[in-house]
Amino acid sequence: MQTLALIGASLAGLSAARAARSQGFTGRLVIIGDEPHRPYDRPPLSKDFLLGAIRAEDLFLETDADELAAEWVLGAEAASLDASSRTVFLKDGRTIQADGIVIATGARARRLPTLAGLSNVFTLRTLAYAQSLAPELVPGSRMAVIGAGFIGAEVAAAAASRGMEVTMIDTKPVPFAAQLGTEMGGVVAGLHAANGVELISSAVIEDFYSGEGNVTGIRLAGGRYVAADVVVVGIGAEPNIGWLEGSGLELRGGGGGGGGGRGRRTGVHLWPGLVAWSAAGRRVLPRREVSWRSRVSAPAAYRRGRGRSGSRRGRPDAVFPLPGR
Ligand SMILES: Cc1cc2nc3c(=O)[nH]c(=O)nc-3n(C[C@H](O)[C@H](O)[C@H](O)COP(=O)(O)OP(=O)(O)OC[C@H]3O[C@@H](n4cnc5c(N)ncnc54)[C@H](O)[C@@H]3O)c2cc1C
Repeated sequence: MQTLALIGASLAGLSAARAARSQGFTGRLVIIGDEPHRPYDRPPLSKDFLLGAIRAEDLFLETDADELAAEWVLGAEAASLDASSRTVFLKDGRTIQADGIVIATGARARRLPTLAGLSNVFTLRTLAYAQSLAPELVPGSRMAVIGAGFIGAEVAAAAASRGMEVTMIDTKPVPFAAQLGTEMGGVVAGLHAANGVELISSAVIEDFYSGEGNVTGIRLAGGRYVAADVVVVGIGAEPNIGWLEGSGLELRGGGGGGGGGRGRRTGVHLWPGLVAWSAAGRRVLPRREVSWRSRVSAPAAYRRGRGRSGSRRGRPDAVFPLPGR
């Protein structure tokens, strides 16, 4: 029996598993994830979940219609990969040898190293992070949000709606200018103000003040001091590709190799008739998060030999055919 191993038990991993089964794969399906949970939806983490409007049980993505017959290996981090033998080495010492491997290890929140170990500093990427941040949304308490991107803006809005005093700090003059243009970015800035979030633009952080293991305030160039009871860092995401170092794979984004890198040894896995879906895109992912929608549609849509090679959309970040196929 052939084995298909999917590394990363989140949206892309689940979508790839569904695609494999729907395209006729009847072999052993092993889904490995370092979180303890079955796949869940991340977008509500910074919205309804943070506000307590939905519970953790409401986030899970599998439905009764899913008949994946998968082996779930959860709470297990893939530490390394030998691409030539298609062997995954788990941190706990187990190994999984597979005929095909899908890398769907996504991204993690970018952090500020200077704030490491301080207990009132939060990022928001996983259910566990959201569960620890939610109780901090206390009316009257002061939150400083670093970064006015999607995560920062959503957390700031949630906190303000809870009656917190929220200050959002960003290096750029206008939020979302790159995505929406300066005019619409200005509208977003106005919405923050209307919702009671103070946005400090073009800011340069000069220093963090801390006491008893907590950040107490942030000093900005020009002398402004922002006092904080809670700090949320929303400065983007970076791809989880460290474990692929030394794997034999060339860790590049699909943008550089025509057709997503096909014909070049630039990425990860392929199953007959099924996309190889990878998050290993150094050139692509460090700059931005990949959208929810693409993680659902692309694994199912991208079949070997008929990907939308002219377009970046829907293209796996990196692909190589299984040897002998
Ligand atoms: C708070 C929040 C709000 C968002 N809101 C929106 C939104 O409104 N709209 C939108 O389009 N997108 C949104 N997104 C982005 C969306 O959630 C992502 O596009 C989606 O989660 C990507 O899915 P993925 O499976 O590729 O990666 P991920 O969801 O990052 O999953 C990767 C999984 O692999 C695991 N993993 C990593 N390394 C290893 C390893 N070595 N071994 C084993 N497992 C590993 C990770 O822990 C994780 O469980 C949001 C994201 C967050 C965090």
